[in-house]
Amino acid sequence: MTVEPRQALVWDYAPAPEATDHLRLRDRYGLFIAGEFREPADSRYEPTINPASEEPIAEVAWAGAEDIQRAVEAARAAQPRWAALPARERAKYIFRIARLIQERARELAVTETLDGGKPLRESRDVDIPLAAAHFFHYAGWADKLRYGVVAREVAPLGVVAQIVPWNFPLLMAAWKLAPALACGNTAILKPAETTPLTALLLAEICQEAELPEGVVAILPGDGATGAALVRAPGIDKVAFTGSTAVGRDIQSALAGRDIALTLELGGKSANIVFEDAAIDQAVEGIVNGIFFNQGHVCCAGSRLLVQESVAEEVIAKLWARMLRLRVGDPLDKNTDVGAVNSAAQLERIQELVQAGEQEGAVRRSIACELPDRGFWFAPTMFTDVSPVHRIAVEEIFGPVVSVLTFRTVEEAIAKTNNSVSGLAAGIWTDKGAKAFQVASALRAGVIWQNTYNHFDPTAAFGGYKESGFGREGGPAGLRPYLRVVR
Ligand code: NAD
Repeated sequence: MTVEPRQALVWDYAPAPEATDHLRLRDRYGLFIAGEFREPADSRYEPTINPASEEPIAEVAWAGAEDIQRAVEAARAAQPRWAALPARERAKYIFRIARLIQERARELAVTETLDGGKPLRESRDVDIPLAAAHFFHYAGWADKLRYGVVAREVAPLGVVAQIVPWNFPLLMAAWKLAPALACGNTAILKPAETTPLTALLLAEICQEAELPEGVVAILPGDGATGAALVRAPGIDKVAFTGSTAVGRDIQSALAGRDIALTLELGGKSANIVFEDAAIDQAVEGIVNGIFFNQGHVCCAGSRLLVQESVAEEVIAKLWARMLRLRVGDPLDKNTDVGAVNSAAQLERIQELVQAGEQEGAVRRSIACELPDRGFWFAPTMFTDVSPVHRIAVEEIFGPVVSVLTFRTVEEAIAKTNNSVSGLAAGIWTDKGAKAFQVASALRAGVIWQNTYNHFDPTAAFGGYKESGFGREGGPAGLRPYLRVVR
């Protein structure tokens, strides 16, 4: 391993921390059931901590079987009335939620950063605006469902159980709740154990929007809560975003039951750079593809495939760009790479990086001063990676890119598709025909050309193979929440 010194910057940045004095966080949050925050049946509260400092932020109730049952009963009771509302009235509630997210954007962004460790720049400019955009988008669909599933009469599924991970807590909640509500379902959302706070602020927003009681429940908890929720009698659908291992467990738990399922799982996405690409732009796209949100991105471009003729140039430019990444306090507006979400995730990253070194790949990590407390991992690049190395096969879910090379278009396609997952891919070329040829040969749900990690509520997102099934976003995102009547 070589640790290269940070090159001298042309100027130093002054600290630019975002204020936190405007936050109105409570010390304790109950479970949001039937429109109110309630005590959990077994009085269990767990702290949620700031991964950048390991300081506790608030205590959060974790739901058990009895609480889940109460939430399902409230959701069942509310669903027929919610579905029977004129669609435009349903839309108004969803629209109000979107507006309230915008009004409370600063508070939501700072809370997301405190609870999850992601740079404020991202929560402020990506997570929160996109969450509002999803609610706006699906508010618009509520009275046009027939056009979403063309020329068919459709009906809601009923009560949906939704489980989200910790990497985009509010955004994933929006991806799940907005289409479900637009289609006339009621929903029970379980946020991830390390990042429940913005979902609980969303519960407050549901109250402010005067959403009828029981339409949305928010039940924080860990895997045991999630496992109990998907097995609860009285639910009609499960929508899950998370790891492939848990997705498998849920699929087997639902086998033989009449419960609809969509799974958005992990990935090992390829970012492919051809020799005719605009290399400087491609380097920016590689950085955005793997270091955005510390690499905690299901569609992260963690396998960088570079055409051999430009590999040396791309690696040199990428390394020079990596040396300028600012790692540290996520609340600082100049930070590019924040804290790893949890001690457990840090351990997983460290284990896979160690495996990369042991298997013979060449590691380079940027030298940077990391804070004493909290969970941190320096941006890292592996070269001399073989397609069979664990770092080329397994999802690292951290700021680690593995560089592989190829010679021909056919080899790039074969190497990209040589994966059990198929969530996303990036293609960097200035030849439109080549981009179309490659895109149509790739088994990946989302393919970006000359950009990466570009999200929009109007575009469908979802996977192939072990990356899951079902789509979220755009009209395709309505279908998993509807039953075709005729
Ligand atoms: P995880 O599967 O451990 O947890 C995800 C959620 O499931 C959490 O809320 C967790 O509490 C819950 N859970 C855990 N065990 C459960 C069980 N047995 N039954 C029901 N629920 C259970 O995943 P994670 O580590 O939180 O998230 C990282 C993973 O999520 C990565 O693999 C990533 O690729 C994937 N992800 C996928 C997408 C996508 O859209 N495809 C988006 C974001 C993250």
